[in-house]
Amino acid sequence: MKVLVVNCGSSSIKYQLFEMDNELVLAKGLVERIGLEGSILTHQPTGKEKKVINANITNHVIGISLVLEALTDANYGVISNMNEIDAIGHRGIHGGEKFSDSVLINENVIKAIEECNDMAPLHNPPSISGINACSELMPNVPQVIVFDTAFHQTMPKHAFMYGLPYEAYEKYGIRRYGFHGTSHKYVSQRVADLMGKDFKDLKIITCHLGNGSSVAAIKNGKCIDTSMGFTPLEGLLMGTRCGNIDPAIIPFLMKKENMTLDQIDNYINKKSGVLGVSGISSDFRDIEKAAESGNDRAQLALDMFTYEVVKFVGSYAAAMNGVDAIVFTAGVGENSIEMREHISSSLEYLGTKVDKEKNNIRGKEREFSVDGSKVKLFVIPTNEELVIARDTKTICTK
Ligand code: AMP
Repeated sequence: MKVLVVNCGSSSIKYQLFEMDNELVLAKGLVERIGLEGSILTHQPTGKEKKVINANITNHVIGISLVLEALTDANYGVISNMNEIDAIGHRGIHGGEKFSDSVLINENVIKAIEECNDMAPLHNPPSISGINACSELMPNVPQVIVFDTAFHQTMPKHAFMYGLPYEAYEKYGIRRYGFHGTSHKYVSQRVADLMGKDFKDLKIITCHLGNGSSVAAIKNGKCIDTSMGFTPLEGLLMGTRCGNIDPAIIPFLMKKENMTLDQIDNYINKKSGVLGVSGISSDFRDIEKAAESGNDRAQLALDMFTYEVVKFVGSYAAAMNGVDAIVFTAGVGENSIEMREHISSSLEYLGTKVDKEKNNIRGKEREFSVDGSKVKLFVIPTNEELVIARDTKTICTK
């Protein structure tokens, strides 16, 4: 069975074609600058040379049709005909309270996603454009959507409610939803496999540390808390997002700086985080380099980030009354040896002990705690696309 996984942004489409019999990626690629000048498709067939196609890609239908052409091309394609695609899996961002699992897409599902648009105005409309484009081009191929919020729907009410008047929840659905759920799900299930234990018998804390970052607490196979909230702005300070701040800062700054709603939104989402603190970059590699060469603000940004991760992990260990494994994933979690070491060595009170030699690894799956550590430390590269492909296969072969 072949599954095409599609992740649509407002001006981009990421894709991977999987052969599910062996879970291998046949090809992957990226359409960028949809609707803008200089739109481009970069197609990477596995084991063949990369192909870059410049074209006038004005909308998602044209983008997907170019992807299909690339996948079926005589030279750089990987299938002979698009009828070989058995199912399509979409990455969905915000499923609100409507979706606690992946679903087969039909008209009612599209309506329900649209009802969540207000909560994810930048993300949900492009997902729908992608679904519609696939329906137009491949009307007989079943489509599934896998939401970033779904894995977190098991959180108990006392963990997902905010201390606002209850009517805010009833009227507008204001509550913590959490994001990166597909990643937290993948690495938490994977760590159970690696430990040779039943997922339902473990207390796991997963740290998805990248440009966007979140931590999740998974007890007995269910997410019970996570750091992102109503939107992906809450929680840790991130590349450009401020994370947790005193909400009173917002009206204070708006008054002092005479900011509009759009300006403050841009300030806390795009100008803050490690970029805002360091004044250098949102990219952790740049910040680590600057800190090494003595830049105080870069060092401060790293110290703040590390400290916040340590605080979240500690609070989730408390919330679960213990922890068996802590997992690091995403760009920073998978690649920054220093960050993993700093965070993990601050957690020794929990029973973690870093094996420095084992931790000397980037982008590979490995336990890096000292043999016999009470709490195991793991680095596990995330694979959200594979979860989407697996869920799509499961739903379409039921
Ligand atoms: P992601 O959002 O998961 O793609 O992660 C992107 C972040 O990972 C960027 O801030 C990168 O700087 C960071 N990253 C990637 N490789 C490394 C590395 N070797 N050391 C530190 N950070 C890294």
